[in-house]
Amino acid sequence: MIHNFNAGPSILPKEVLEQAAQSVLNYNNTGLSILEMGHRTPEFTAVMEEARALVKELMNLDDDHQVLFLHGGASTQFMQVPMNFLDPKDTSAYADTGVWSSKAIKEAKLFSKVDVVCSSKEKNYSFIPNDFAVPNDAKYFHITTNNTIYGTQWQSIPKTSNVMVADMSSDIFSRQLNFNEFGLIYAGAQKNMGPAGVNLVVVNQNILGKVKHTIPTMMDYRNHIAEGSMLNTPPVFAVYVCMLTLRWLKSIGGISAVEKLNQQKAELLYNEIDNNELFKTNVVKEDRSKMNVCFVMNDPNLEKPFYEYLKSNGVYGIKGHRLSGGFRASLYNALPLSSVEYLVELMQEFKQSQA
Ligand SMILES: *Cc1c(COP(=O)(O)O)cnc(C)c1O
Repeated sequence: MIHNFNAGPSILPKEVLEQAAQSVLNYNNTGLSILEMGHRTPEFTAVMEEARALVKELMNLDDDHQVLFLHGGASTQFMQVPMNFLDPKDTSAYADTGVWSSKAIKEAKLFSKVDVVCSSKEKNYSFIPNDFAVPNDAKYFHITTNNTIYGTQWQSIPKTSNVMVADMSSDIFSRQLNFNEFGLIYAGAQKNMGPAGVNLVVVNQNILGKVKHTIPTMMDYRNHIAEGSMLNTPPVFAVYVCMLTLRWLKSIGGISAVEKLNQQKAELLYNEIDNNELFKTNVVKEDRSKMNVCFVMNDPNLEKPFYEYLKSNGVYGIKGHRLSGGFRASLYNALPLSSVEYLVELMQEFKQSQA
């Protein structure tokens, strides 16, 4: 058996994969594959509508918040966000908490002035800054709620008077937040809500249409809203698998239920890292991510043998990102508690083998 700790694309629920595989051959007994149906057919329109409705229901969104499934991954949002909210003389504010934040900042700078109000770069992004002020005139304040590469996470969302924009790619649907407090949320699907090829955008429609410049048709959120997220051909299969994953999430009790499970998984693993003398984490305790657990070994020479040991025992996708080294166990929604229990057992066995 394989235990899949991949950071993204990553583990999906088995029943979702089974249903998706079936639908590739014969969708709902139509005799057609989901891959060969027009996106404007009643069959696919129903998929898109159900996916959007499930997002709305699971996140408890009000009617001002619109749900879109767009192309281009989270990285396209790095430019689409500033394009929709900033004129050249405007300012935006960003927190720099890792690679993805700094990529978002780089794109925003193409459009106007960016105020980087805080950064943890000097300490290799091992913590989340808490001492900063956001200028009132910043059109929005952008944070990356979970830093996939460095394993840090905002435990609470900073309160400012600005419109909040969040990249939630790696912790979307993992914990309860008041999602209506955000002006815009975006997330690449391939971490915690589906396969690669689509990203989710949740946007408060009241904040749109305030810039003076014209926005290219495909980049303007208002056009996507007006067309029910079908301005052009959507990535039909990716949306379909997201819809199945959201159905699965609802069936297990929604975000509050999965949050408890995620809490348990993270506690179990951090507890072992803290108590097993072979391991440690460089991430500041209060800022530890419940999604991506990054850790290293006190003796770097043991990392390769430990990695081989994990691999030979069916643990998959746990190598750390090339920028942070060591190990990274991604504990996304679909990863069962038993996989974390198994990993912890292997950590203990490895320690005994070294004694
Ligand atoms: C993976 C990731 C991205 C990039 O996503 P793409 O869909 O590959 O563009 C952006 N932000 C965060 C936080 C991520 O984890």
